[in-house]
Amino acid sequence: MPQAPTLIGKLAESLMGRRARVLDLGEPAPGFVEVELRAEAPPGGWRPGHEIQVRASATQGRRYTVRTVNGRDPERVTVLATTQAAGPGAHWIRGLRTGAWITVLTGRHRPLREHGTRRLCLGDGCALGTIDAYARTEHITAIEVSSEALRPLADRWPRHHFVAAEGAPGDALQSWLEQASVEGGLAGADGALLLGHAQSIQRQRRTLVDGGILPRRAITTKPYWATGKQGL
Ligand SMILES: Cc1cc2nc3c(=O)[nH]c(=O)nc-3n(C[C@H](O)[C@H](O)[C@H](O)COP(=O)(O)OP(=O)(O)OC[C@H]3O[C@@H](n4cnc5c(N)ncnc54)[C@H](O)[C@@H]3O)c2cc1C
Repeated sequence: MPQAPTLIGKLAESLMGRRARVLDLGEPAPGFVEVELRAEAPPGGWRPGHEIQVRASATQGRRYTVRTVNGRDPERVTVLATTQAAGPGAHWIRGLRTGAWITVLTGRHRPLREHGTRRLCLGDGCALGTIDAYARTEHITAIEVSSEALRPLADRWPRHHFVAAEGAPGDALQSWLEQASVEGGLAGADGALLLGHAQSIQRQRRTLVDGGILPRRAITTKPYWATGKQGL
């Protein structure tokens, strides 16, 4: 529900809203904000990969994902957000301040469908938090990010492979995928999780299916944004 009348937004907030306090804000790389929250747990508790929604304005809801849940304090969670979109979501994230009280909307965690044991996880910067929440060491992960964010992100998360964006969204990751598929970099992959930019996901899935690398049923997709579209 990216766009809804104010009344509906308020109703959703009263039914699904959890009070949350911003404990800390960090900038792990240019264009990325790491938000640490203490938030009332939803039914079943917080889980890495838990989807949340915020009311970025009276009429605009935007979705984000819990990256980590603190082992000692299960109401302490982090969310990794990008700020390159020029809409109300990015504006809301940039406006957060330590100590502020906010409301996040969520319900019981509904995990993404996961296939295979050696999974290929692809996405762009806005999917990094989700990929990090789901990825295991045996998975192959590749994430397209701006060239200025690449080094700090690679230092912070050495287990993921970062690709510098070049040209249109998804072009650089598509080149990486095509190269990896011919050079054996996808050897043993038996499932895939494709997140982020809608049009890029479609291209990646076509490459995997048409190239005989994975059957369509072994691929989970979840678009987080689409060129020219506001909210998803
Ligand atoms: C289930 C789900 C989980 C998500 N989890 C996360 C998360 O954990 N972290 C995170 O950072 N984002 C996440 N997103 C994506 C995030 O919701 C969007 O990037 C955000 O909605 C952008 O909001 P906006 O109001 O700033 O821009 P919008 O009003 O949505 O769009 C404005 C313009 O910016 C473009 N745009 C939108 N998003 C992006 C983007 N990411 N990169 C470049 N251009 C963009 C649009 O095409 C449009 O032209 C998630 C999305 C979904 C659906």
